Amino acid sequence: MSETIFTKIINKEIPADILFEDERVLAFKDISPQAPVHFLVIPKKAIATTNDITLEDEALVGYMHRVAAIVAKDFGVAEQGFRTVMNCNQDGGQTVYHIHLHVLAGKALGWPPYQENLKS
Ligand code: 5GP
Repeated sequence: MSETIFTKIINKEIPADILFEDERVLAFKDISPQAPVHFLVIPKKAIATTNDITLEDEALVGYMHRVAAIVAKDFGVAEQGFRTVMNCNQDGGQTVYHIHLHVLAGKALGWPPYQENLKS
């Protein structure tokens, strides 16, 4: 797998506004926020897409969700609520091929993300 911008952030080769870090994951603010609170939780292990998550990654991906809630609490948005999203490949809107959990909060978010009438 080729190196992504997130590997550079993990290795501190480029700066990021880091909110949480331990041996398994990193959480940092998204450079182009789509909500008043928008941060990313990434594994330090480079996994390209959610299609590439293996049995051995299951605990890691669950942990990413726990860290999302911990950081959301730090922002004071956990009780009001937040949205977690993992985009996969082209139709999912993925642009960085190192899995990441978007955490969006700070106002009521729209739903659904796809507007066309699916009933026809
Ligand atoms: P995707 O489109 O792959 O689901 O999300 C990638 C996210 O990474 C985007 O929301 C984008 O703004 C964010 N991003 C891309 N490059 C950087 C960067 O260099 N620093 C930070 N903090 N976020 C980035």
